[in-house]
Amino acid sequence: MSDRLPGFSTLAVHAGAQPDPTTGARATPIYQTTSFVFNDADHAASLFGLQAFGNIYTRIGNPTNAVLEERVAALEGGTAALAVASGHAAQVVVLQQLLQPGDEFIAARKLYGGSINQFTHAFKSFGWNVVWADPDDIASFERAVTPRTKAIFIESIANPAGSITDIEAISTVARKAGVPLIVDNTLASPYLIRPIDHGADIVVHSLTKFLGGHGNSLGGIIVDAGTFDWSTGGKYPMLSEPRPEYHGIRLQETFGNFAFAIACRVLGLRDLGPALSPFNAFMILTGIETLPLRMQKHCDNAKAVAEFLAGHPAVASVSYAGLASDKYNQLARKYAPKGAGAVFTFSLKGGYDAGVNLVSKLQLFSHLANVGDTRSLVIHPASTTHSQLDDAAKVKSGAGPDVVRLSVGIEDKEDLIADLEQALGA
Ligand SMILES: *Cc1c(COP(=O)(O)O)cnc(C)c1O
Repeated sequence: MSDRLPGFSTLAVHAGAQPDPTTGARATPIYQTTSFVFNDADHAASLFGLQAFGNIYTRIGNPTNAVLEERVAALEGGTAALAVASGHAAQVVVLQQLLQPGDEFIAARKLYGGSINQFTHAFKSFGWNVVWADPDDIASFERAVTPRTKAIFIESIANPAGSITDIEAISTVARKAGVPLIVDNTLASPYLIRPIDHGADIVVHSLTKFLGGHGNSLGGIIVDAGTFDWSTGGKYPMLSEPRPEYHGIRLQETFGNFAFAIACRVLGLRDLGPALSPFNAFMILTGIETLPLRMQKHCDNAKAVAEFLAGHPAVASVSYAGLASDKYNQLARKYAPKGAGAVFTFSLKGGYDAGVNLVSKLQLFSHLANVGDTRSLVIHPASTTHSQLDDAAKVKSGAGPDVVRLSVGIEDKEDLIADLEQALGA
């Protein structure tokens, strides 16, 4: 082997995997088992005491899932990762390690609708208080910091409008506040943006979207950048204080720059239980092998569709950061030079009714609540994903009544444009 470090496409195919040592199987097998036999009593005791790494029970870890974890950690440039059952499970497990009841975290207001719900309602019942900030106004993050702030949460490419977040500027705020920056990188995928290169301390994904990429399997993942010092000021006791469930060890002291990933596994996943099925891990691994090819096609198609819409008389405006005229184009050139993603919004001159009408007339675009499928998807956020918000909050989060969101797939762009043309014209 040469000294060359493998490139992104090579990692997407190979990272974390090797031929199965017992059978020679080249594809990663699905280890469809709940539990694993110990060598002897000492081995069992050392696994339970975190003195040795190994398999115990699939709620805590599984060899198929481990390949997925190593692969995504490599693609994101992190030290370690933990796969869980869904993107939302990843968010719960991350914040459980960071917040005590009564603590706060700051979140960008432009987020996936489900995250807005989760942060506002479910997390409130845990005593975790979200404070909203505007990703287009960096000073709003600074103003939101209090002594109880424990983390900042943003999306790299933000739902629903595909706006680009200035990760470096917000990471500077996080560093000054002494709190980790968590970046939801679902809409970009590491092919377009690697948040750790721009100052993120933790990356989360819904694997359900572009990483899995085929609309067939739910999953989530947490990537530890290994950059944050958890010992300062006793702010993060889950990581810095002795753990009674593990003979009093301190996770940061014992595991160093992958202590956060370990905490997520042995305190979060073990006790909360949202384990990823090894079958789903296999499906998502297969998806990741073609991530670079798919993502480039998604972006190229999205740009062509956005350009078509921008020139159509029924369309009032298009919000796609890949268009030279877009207000996020400068940030897109800096953070996502290969393409500005495939999820974006446009607004119709005919308002709410025109949005509902368009969605019902499209044939190739499927009307559903998902993004990041090979197939092209469409939704009218105001009547669906963002319907729980009041009108002012809808507009603020980019989901006004006249707005339609697309997730552009990898079909032929001419067919996608023809479908939009017939639906807009009719
Ligand atoms: C879908 C999505 C989530 C939630 O992921 P699930 O796998 O559905 O739980 C979180 N963030 C973003 C940006 C998403 O698109």
